[in-house]
Amino acid sequence: QSWWSQIKAGAPDPIFSVTEAYRADANPQKVLLGVGAYRTDEGMPFILPCVQRAKDMLGEQKLDHEYLPQGGYSEFNRAAARLALGEESDVLKNGLNLTVQALGGTGAIRLGMTFLSRFHTGCKVVYIPNPTWNNHKNISLNSGMEWKFYKYYDPEQKGMNFCGMCEDIENIPEKSIILFHAIAHNPTGFDPSPDQWKRLSNLCMERNLFVFFDMAYQGFATGDAEKDASSVRQFIEDGHQVAVAQSFSKNMGLYGERIGALTLVTTSKEELERVNSQMKIVIRAMYSNPPLYGARIVSQVLNEQALRCQWLKDIQGMANRIQSVRQLLVAELKKVGSEKNWEHICKQIGMFSFTGLNKEQVEKLTKEHSVYLTADGRISVASLGGKNIPYVARAIHEVSK
Ligand code: PMP
Repeated sequence: QSWWSQIKAGAPDPIFSVTEAYRADANPQKVLLGVGAYRTDEGMPFILPCVQRAKDMLGEQKLDHEYLPQGGYSEFNRAAARLALGEESDVLKNGLNLTVQALGGTGAIRLGMTFLSRFHTGCKVVYIPNPTWNNHKNISLNSGMEWKFYKYYDPEQKGMNFCGMCEDIENIPEKSIILFHAIAHNPTGFDPSPDQWKRLSNLCMERNLFVFFDMAYQGFATGDAEKDASSVRQFIEDGHQVAVAQSFSKNMGLYGERIGALTLVTTSKEELERVNSQMKIVIRAMYSNPPLYGARIVSQVLNEQALRCQWLKDIQGMANRIQSVRQLLVAELKKVGSEKNWEHICKQIGMFSFTGLNKEQVEKLTKEHSVYLTADGRISVASLGGKNIPYVARAIHEVSK
């Protein structure tokens, strides 16, 4: 009798299982539009030029491999906080942000949620948008918290359901936790406007909610990293003591390096020290201290003027290519004879498009055309390029006629 004989098979991950099925497909025309990873127009992984230069510079130095402190690489932490909060942030100027390195965006959210599950004094329920990145549910549950949805998307209108969202938020019990995608909402590609963010900020203040920002795509929406952080900055300016989880997976193409950051806003230096001491204890029991390489690269890029300029160009280039791919896809759909309205694909921002294809259409797309995407009809636009757009457009048209 094995120790594990009682274990029932778990459900496959809705995103990674798409990659596995793609790998097993022998069709040479197969296309993977599941996982959110930026590709060149030729469909290859992209090493950002700024990152390559940072790596070259690091390679010339004789760097050791000592442990980092629990909170990570301090130069990286300072640079990450500046990027999220902005140079002019009062919180930053007054040294009231606790920023620690984390294992990618996932790790930053997990660390934040674990911290909240231990120390949040209000209602331990995390309100997440419907739909959202599926892992928000897993992370909340694994951190010992419940999750509930608030309305976000209107499938009929193929746009945001802002009224529904506000209505739901008005009814969230006080002192609960609410999670927002800071920019480039995954999977819908629709974000609140600046006015709507302001209203949400007021509403969350009225309801006395703890606001948790997941910022996985800073720079990817407009190509301008400053603009893309405006939701977070608005809330902080309005006096919210937010948590911000940052990821450098997408905006520096450092997916496998697992580099991200978690920031908590505190109200005094003395409070920051207390919060920091507990954060260190949480980190110590999970992974002791974070990895070095990604932190060194990001720190080099953000702290060296020339590399930072290059990075701003690199993200603008990625954002522009994604935008042009959206236009090309819609044009191609028209060309192959689709009479459906696909304009929402051009209106959406970020890495993904929520195509509106239903489960059956998605199944057909995969089975009959070897185009791989998640069951909710989300495609990674960043994985489309000159080579596969005509093929994908024809396949989408075939299943949606
Ligand atoms: N949040 C959202 C909304 C995401 O889409 C992702 C990545 N797909 C993450 C967080 C986590 O990113 P990372 O790969 O850095 O863990």
